[in-house]
Amino acid sequence: MVVVEDCLFCKIINGSIPSTKVYEKNNVVGFKDIHPDAPTHLLFVHKNHTQDLNDVCSKDPKGLLELITAITQFSEEKGLKDFGYRVVTNIGRSSGQSVFHTHFHILSGSNLGKFGT
Ligand code: 5GP
Ligand code: ZN
Repeated sequence: MVVVEDCLFCKIINGSIPSTKVYEKNNVVGFKDIHPDAPTHLLFVHKNHTQDLNDVCSKDPKGLLELITAITQFSEEKGLKDFGYRVVTNIGRSSGQSVFHTHFHILSGSNLGKFGT
């Protein structure tokens, strides 16, 4: 398991930075985004540090599947699937990525607008 000492999400995963966790199973953690953009705005991460979607896909495809499976199971258990939800992942600074530990935004709870440009 790769853990990066100065990574914000590695610190949230190990509890040294507090967060409101909503999910923790096997190697996946879900927690509330500190600046929510929707009534439900969660972040799902894998404990094995990778930088972004491209990085996790090449270095840890099994971890990526684990992460996506956790999200879909959570969405069914918590009713997000029935309501409708959006999964977003930013890759690179110009897309808006600010934390370089692979994460999926889960947005739900209202009628979401079209994507920003
Ligand atoms: P990105 O901009 O990299 O796609 O997403 C990073 C997300 O992390 C942002 O939506 C931001 O609000 C959230 N975030 C930044 N710092 C913290 C923090 O300390 N705790 C939590 N829970 N979320 C954070
Ligand atoms: Zn990390």
